[in-house]
Amino acid sequence: MKLINQRLSNNNNGIQLYTAESRYYENGKTILFIGVFHGDEPEGEFLIENLMNEIDNNPDFTGRNQILCLPCLNPDGKELKTRGNANGVDLNRNFPTKNWELSAQKNEYYSGDYAGSEIETRFLIEILDEHKPDIIVTLHTPYRIINYDGPAEKLAHKISEFNNYPVQQDIGYPTPGSFGTYAGIERNIPVITLELPDNTSIEQLWADNKDAFIYISGSTSF
Ligand SMILES: [Zn+2]
Repeated sequence: MKLINQRLSNNNNGIQLYTAESRYYENGKTILFIGVFHGDEPEGEFLIENLMNEIDNNPDFTGRNQILCLPCLNPDGKELKTRGNANGVDLNRNFPTKNWELSAQKNEYYSGDYAGSEIETRFLIEILDEHKPDIIVTLHTPYRIINYDGPAEKLAHKISEFNNYPVQQDIGYPTPGSFGTYAGIERNIPVITLELPDNTSIEQLWADNKDAFIYISGSTSF
């Protein structure tokens, strides 16, 4: 796959967006995979890298869909092994949603000083504006559930048929300023939040989720 956009983080790490090269996309869907919103959840990056290798080796399964891959949204947090980015902001509380609110405390769920204050948040918003994805899959750890926002219930259940994770619409605690609210609820884009189990090898995670990834990448009806 080919690098098509890049942004430098606060600590000068590249945040990279890739797409499959030389493909004919007309009439297909645009599907965006995003890993590592939270720096201490690195598993998603490995799965997206596996998907990218799969597409390089066997591009036909994506049909006319455009697959966009952002393997690591939060490279600074990954380097620091923190949930938040280099400024200590939880990127999943930093999106300019109607329910965004300033955190009372600067803890690991810190919202940032204002909505959209962070480079990573703004880069992702730019990507949505430019590429207008038809479906978005974000990868987190550790709950082993399929959570969704926006019109993604059918797809969530389809994914569950492949990986046997339970579908759960509400994660059980408030998430003001979340990406799911921004893209799924407020922009009506189907957003799947795939929560991977922890204490599971990358090989096992890929074995459990490969078929779902391939299904999503090749699907033309959501
Ligand atoms: Zn997370």
